[in-house]
Amino acid sequence: MIEWVPSIIGQTFATVYGLVVGSFLAVCIVRMPQDRSLLVPSACPRCGAHVRWRDNVPVLSWLVLRGRCRDCGTPISPLYPMVEALGGTLGWLLYRRLMPTVDQIDGVHAAAWVVWFVFLGLLVVAAAVDVRHRIIPDQVSSYAIPIGILGAAALEWAGFDGWLAVGWRSSVLGTAAWGGLFATFAVLGKFVTRQEVLGWGDVKLAAMFGAFLGIFPGTFVTVLVGSLLGAVVGIVATLVARRRVWLPYGPPLAVAAAGWVLWGDVLISTFFPGLAAFSR
Ligand SMILES: [Zn+2]
Repeated sequence: MIEWVPSIIGQTFATVYGLVVGSFLAVCIVRMPQDRSLLVPSACPRCGAHVRWRDNVPVLSWLVLRGRCRDCGTPISPLYPMVEALGGTLGWLLYRRLMPTVDQIDGVHAAAWVVWFVFLGLLVVAAAVDVRHRIIPDQVSSYAIPIGILGAAALEWAGFDGWLAVGWRSSVLGTAAWGGLFATFAVLGKFVTRQEVLGWGDVKLAAMFGAFLGIFPGTFVTVLVGSLLGAVVGIVATLVARRRVWLPYGPPLAVAAAGWVLWGDVLISTFFPGLAAFSR
């Protein structure tokens, strides 16, 4: 067979799957803060008409309907096509990361794609809900910790290697260490400044990062890069607004974590060459 055919099929499948999951992630972003069921079919918030299957095609349906309900013309949030497009892009980028050549196209790498795509999906929902509501739902932080640990253990058992191989020990230690460190900062910060410097949502998010990324160097680099990114954006926003602006900590952490998954080896060799020995 021509060598690039399996790769094109794989990339197409990863992108389409990412678009469809993106549709579900958008539903999570809207419904989780309202404690609404994720399983009820989508309906127009104004006229209550159920979304037909042909109007539920990611990105395309929104464009065809020009962002309006087919029945009553109520505007539909551009959040939906944006998150769907993001899902497709992340699915494709993750495929390119894990299966760059046909040699990696096998069950083990496909399983790794599934585990890491779950992680990227959690990041998208956590960051978007934090931006919109200043909270991080438990469903995408503390509840996802067992998935991270089981995923790391399953991939280790299946013989997945490469620099995203975390292993169950590093996963369990990472959950305890990073959750514990952030919890300490949250308690100390409140004690010293008498206001909330670090929310419990951020503590649970850090513990979830530890479960998926491992104790070191994954979560370490993510927290370092995410904190720097958050500080830079916060300072720029404060200068532009000419008053103290407090931005949520979740989004820069999520961006850094996605960056670690997709380009961690480049990050390490460029900015932290001393850490290269730690990443297998
Ligand atoms: Zn309607």
